[in-house]
Amino acid sequence: MIRLHDMRHGPFEAIEELNPRAVAGRLRICITVDTESCPCLPEASLVARLLAGFPGLSRHGCRARTASAPSPTAGTRILLVEGEPSANQAHPLEHLVLDLLGVFEPSVLRSGVTRAWQEPPERNDIFIERRDLATGTGTAAISLAMLAFENALEDRPLTPLFGDVVRVWSVFAQAQAAPVSPRHVAHRSGLPRTRVEQALAVLTDNRLLRSEPFAVHISGETHFRTR
Ligand SMILES: [Zn+2]
Repeated sequence: MIRLHDMRHGPFEAIEELNPRAVAGRLRICITVDTESCPCLPEASLVARLLAGFPGLSRHGCRARTASAPSPTAGTRILLVEGEPSANQAHPLEHLVLDLLGVFEPSVLRSGVTRAWQEPPERNDIFIERRDLATGTGTAAISLAMLAFENALEDRPLTPLFGDVVRVWSVFAQAQAAPVSPRHVAHRSGLPRTRVEQALAVLTDNRLLRSEPFAVHISGETHFRTR
Protein backbone atom coordinates (compact mmCIF):
# COMPACT_ATOMS: atom_id res chain seq x y z
CA MET A 1 0.00 0.00 0.00
CA ILE A 2 1.20 3.50 -0.79
CA ARG A 3 -0.12 6.34 1.37
CA LEU A 4 -0.30 10.06 0.77
CA HIS A 5 1.25 11.64 3.85
CA ASP A 6 1.22 15.32 2.85
CA MET A 7 0.72 17.66 -0.12
CA ARG A 8 1.91 21.26 -0.39
CA HIS A 9 2.76 23.89 -2.98
CA GLY A 10 5.80 26.08 -3.52
CA PRO A 11 8.82 26.68 -5.75
CA PHE A 12 11.08 24.27 -3.79
CA GLU A 13 14.13 25.72 -5.62
CA ALA A 14 16.53 23.36 -3.82
CA ILE A 15 15.44 20.43 -5.96
CA GLU A 16 16.16 22.18 -9.28
CA GLU A 17 19.77 20.99 -9.30
CA LEU A 18 18.56 17.39 -9.10
CA ASN A 19 16.98 17.47 -12.56
CA PRO A 20 18.67 19.30 -15.46
CA ARG A 21 15.27 19.69 -17.15
CA ALA A 22 13.74 21.48 -14.16
CA VAL A 23 12.52 24.98 -15.06
CA ALA A 24 14.00 27.52 -12.61
CA GLY A 25 11.41 29.28 -10.50
CA ARG A 26 8.51 27.11 -11.68
CA LEU A 27 5.83 26.39 -9.08
CA ARG A 28 5.59 22.81 -7.92
CA ILE A 29 3.36 20.43 -6.05
CA CYS A 30 5.20 18.32 -3.50
CA ILE A 31 3.50 15.14 -2.38
CA THR A 32 5.01 13.13 0.45
CA VAL A 33 4.21 9.44 0.25
CA ASP A 34 4.91 6.43 2.41
CA THR A 35 5.62 3.35 0.31
CA GLU A 36 5.31 -0.29 1.25
CA SER A 37 8.03 -1.23 3.75
CA CYS A 38 8.24 -4.83 2.55
CA PRO A 39 6.96 -4.85 -1.00
CA CYS A 40 6.01 -8.35 -2.10
CA LEU A 41 6.14 -7.35 -5.76
CA PRO A 42 9.53 -6.90 -7.50
CA GLU A 43 9.90 -3.28 -8.56
CA ALA A 44 10.51 -4.16 -12.21
CA SER A 45 7.24 -6.12 -12.21
CA LEU A 46 5.44 -3.14 -10.72
CA VAL A 47 6.75 -0.90 -13.50
CA ALA A 48 5.74 -3.51 -16.09
CA ARG A 49 2.18 -3.51 -14.75
CA LEU A 50 2.05 0.28 -14.82
CA LEU A 51 3.39 0.26 -18.35
CA ALA A 52 0.61 -2.11 -19.45
CA GLY A 53 -2.00 0.34 -18.17
CA PHE A 54 -0.22 3.52 -19.24
CA PRO A 55 1.75 2.90 -22.46
CA GLY A 56 2.83 6.54 -22.51
CA LEU A 57 5.35 5.68 -19.77
CA SER A 58 7.49 4.02 -22.45
CA ARG A 59 8.19 7.45 -23.95
CA HIS A 60 9.35 9.12 -20.74
CA GLY A 61 12.84 10.41 -20.38
CA CYS A 62 14.45 9.74 -17.01
CA ARG A 63 17.42 11.59 -15.60
CA ALA A 64 17.68 10.08 -12.16
CA ARG A 65 21.15 10.53 -10.73
CA THR A 66 22.44 8.34 -7.95
CA ALA A 67 25.73 7.25 -6.45
CA SER A 68 25.15 3.69 -7.56
CA ALA A 69 24.46 2.81 -11.16
CA PRO A 70 20.74 2.85 -11.95
CA SER A 71 19.31 0.52 -14.55
CA PRO A 72 16.42 1.15 -16.92
CA THR A 73 13.44 -1.18 -16.55
CA ALA A 74 12.24 -3.21 -19.50
CA GLY A 75 10.17 -1.22 -21.95
CA THR A 76 10.85 2.16 -20.32
CA ARG A 77 13.66 4.47 -19.40
CA ILE A 78 12.38 4.77 -15.82
CA LEU A 79 15.45 4.06 -13.74
CA LEU A 80 15.46 1.77 -10.73
CA VAL A 81 18.27 1.67 -8.19
CA GLU A 82 19.57 -1.54 -6.68
CA GLY A 83 18.68 -1.87 -2.99
CA GLU A 84 16.29 1.12 -2.87
CA PRO A 85 12.83 -0.51 -2.71
CA SER A 86 11.07 2.58 -1.37
CA ALA A 87 12.47 5.02 -3.93
CA ASN A 88 11.80 2.40 -6.60
CA GLN A 89 8.09 2.66 -5.76
CA ALA A 90 7.94 6.43 -5.42
CA HIS A 91 9.91 7.16 -8.58
CA PRO A 92 7.51 5.26 -10.91
CA LEU A 93 4.65 7.04 -9.12
CA GLU A 94 6.27 10.36 -10.06
CA HIS A 95 6.34 9.27 -13.71
CA LEU A 96 2.71 8.12 -13.50
CA VAL A 97 1.58 11.55 -12.23
CA LEU A 98 3.60 13.21 -15.01
CA ASP A 99 2.06 10.85 -17.57
CA LEU A 100 -1.48 11.69 -16.46
CA LEU A 101 -0.73 15.41 -16.48
CA GLY A 102 0.58 14.94 -20.00
CA VAL A 103 -2.81 13.52 -20.98
CA PHE A 104 -4.78 16.27 -19.28
CA GLU A 105 -2.53 19.13 -20.39
CA PRO A 106 -0.73 17.88 -23.49
CA SER A 107 0.77 21.24 -24.46
CA VAL A 108 2.80 21.65 -21.27
CA LEU A 109 6.20 20.02 -20.85
CA ARG A 110 7.08 19.39 -17.24
CA SER A 111 9.54 17.51 -15.10
CA GLY A 112 9.58 15.90 -11.70
CA VAL A 113 11.98 14.90 -8.96
CA THR A 114 11.73 12.16 -6.36
CA ARG A 115 13.75 12.53 -3.19
CA ALA A 116 13.96 9.75 -0.60
CA TRP A 117 14.00 10.48 3.12
CA GLN A 118 16.66 8.89 5.27
CA GLU A 119 14.19 8.53 8.14
CA PRO A 120 11.64 7.03 7.97
CA PRO A 121 13.04 4.96 5.10
CA GLU A 122 9.65 4.37 3.47
CA ARG A 123 9.02 8.13 3.03
CA ASN A 124 9.64 10.06 -0.22
CA ASP A 125 8.94 13.54 -1.55
CA ILE A 126 7.74 13.78 -5.15
CA PHE A 127 7.98 17.22 -6.78
CA ILE A 128 5.92 17.93 -9.89
CA GLU A 129 6.16 21.16 -11.87
CA ARG A 130 2.90 23.04 -12.33
CA ARG A 131 2.41 26.16 -14.40
CA ASP A 132 -0.96 26.88 -12.81
CA LEU A 133 -1.73 25.53 -9.36
CA ALA A 134 -5.34 26.70 -9.51
CA THR A 135 -6.58 24.04 -11.93
CA GLY A 136 -7.92 20.76 -10.63
CA THR A 137 -5.90 18.66 -13.04
CA GLY A 138 -2.92 18.40 -10.69
CA THR A 139 -5.01 16.95 -7.90
CA ALA A 140 -6.84 14.72 -10.37
CA ALA A 141 -3.60 13.36 -11.76
CA ILE A 142 -2.28 12.62 -8.27
CA SER A 143 -5.52 10.93 -7.17
CA LEU A 144 -5.75 8.76 -10.27
CA ALA A 145 -2.06 7.90 -10.15
CA MET A 146 -2.35 6.79 -6.51
CA LEU A 147 -5.41 4.71 -7.35
CA ALA A 148 -3.80 3.07 -10.38
CA PHE A 149 -0.62 2.46 -8.40
CA GLU A 150 -2.59 0.73 -5.65
CA ASN A 151 -4.32 -1.46 -8.23
CA ALA A 152 -0.95 -2.43 -9.69
CA LEU A 153 0.44 -3.31 -6.25
CA GLU A 154 -2.63 -5.45 -5.57
CA ASP A 155 -2.34 -7.11 -8.99
CA ARG A 156 -5.71 -5.81 -10.14
CA PRO A 157 -5.82 -5.15 -13.89
CA LEU A 158 -5.30 -1.57 -15.01
CA THR A 159 -6.77 -2.17 -18.46
CA PRO A 160 -9.15 -1.19 -19.82
CA LEU A 161 -10.41 0.70 -16.75
CA PHE A 162 -7.73 3.37 -16.37
CA GLY A 163 -7.49 4.11 -20.07
CA ASP A 164 -11.27 4.59 -19.96
CA VAL A 165 -11.01 6.80 -16.88
CA VAL A 166 -8.52 9.06 -18.64
CA ARG A 167 -10.68 9.30 -21.78
CA VAL A 168 -13.80 10.06 -19.75
CA TRP A 169 -11.97 12.66 -17.66
CA SER A 170 -10.77 14.32 -20.87
CA VAL A 171 -14.40 14.80 -21.97
CA PHE A 172 -15.14 16.60 -18.71
CA ALA A 173 -11.98 18.68 -18.98
CA GLN A 174 -13.14 19.89 -22.40
CA ALA A 175 -16.60 20.61 -20.99
CA GLN A 176 -15.05 23.19 -18.64
CA ALA A 177 -17.26 22.50 -15.61
CA ALA A 178 -20.49 22.21 -17.61
CA PRO A 179 -22.73 19.26 -16.62
CA VAL A 180 -22.39 16.29 -18.96
CA SER A 181 -24.57 13.21 -19.38
CA PRO A 182 -23.20 9.65 -19.62
CA ARG A 183 -24.72 9.43 -23.09
CA HIS A 184 -22.73 12.47 -24.17
CA VAL A 185 -19.56 11.02 -22.64
CA ALA A 186 -20.11 7.75 -24.53
CA HIS A 187 -20.58 9.69 -27.76
CA ARG A 188 -17.49 11.87 -27.28
CA SER A 189 -15.21 9.15 -25.97
CA GLY A 190 -16.35 6.37 -28.31
CA LEU A 191 -16.61 4.01 -25.33
CA PRO A 192 -19.50 1.58 -24.70
CA ARG A 193 -21.98 2.87 -22.15
CA THR A 194 -21.14 0.15 -19.59
CA ARG A 195 -17.45 1.17 -19.61
CA VAL A 196 -18.41 4.84 -19.34
CA GLU A 197 -20.48 4.00 -16.25
CA GLN A 198 -17.53 2.15 -14.67
CA ALA A 199 -15.18 5.04 -15.36
CA LEU A 200 -17.71 7.55 -13.99
CA ALA A 201 -17.96 5.47 -10.81
CA VAL A 202 -14.18 5.64 -10.33
CA LEU A 203 -14.12 9.40 -10.91
CA THR A 204 -17.03 10.10 -8.55
CA ASP A 205 -15.72 7.72 -5.87
CA ASN A 206 -12.43 9.61 -5.98
CA ARG A 207 -14.20 12.97 -5.77
CA LEU A 208 -13.05 14.16 -9.16
CA LEU A 209 -16.63 14.35 -10.47
CA ARG A 210 -19.93 14.88 -8.73
CA SER A 211 -23.44 14.11 -9.89
CA GLU A 212 -25.86 16.96 -10.39
CA PRO A 213 -28.15 16.64 -7.36
CA PHE A 214 -31.07 18.82 -8.35
CA ALA A 215 -31.18 19.39 -12.10
CA VAL A 216 -34.08 17.93 -14.04
CA HIS A 217 -33.17 16.72 -17.49
CA ILE A 218 -35.49 15.79 -20.33
CA SER A 219 -33.40 12.69 -20.93
CA GLY A 220 -33.90 11.53 -17.35
CA GLU A 221 -30.16 10.87 -17.08
CA THR A 222 -28.11 11.91 -14.09
CA HIS A 223 -25.55 14.46 -15.26
CA PHE A 224 -22.04 14.84 -13.88
CA ARG A 225 -19.62 17.73 -13.63
CA THR A 226 -16.13 18.38 -12.33
CA ARG A 227 -15.82 19.41 -8.69
ZN1 LIG B 1 12.68 9.32 -13.64
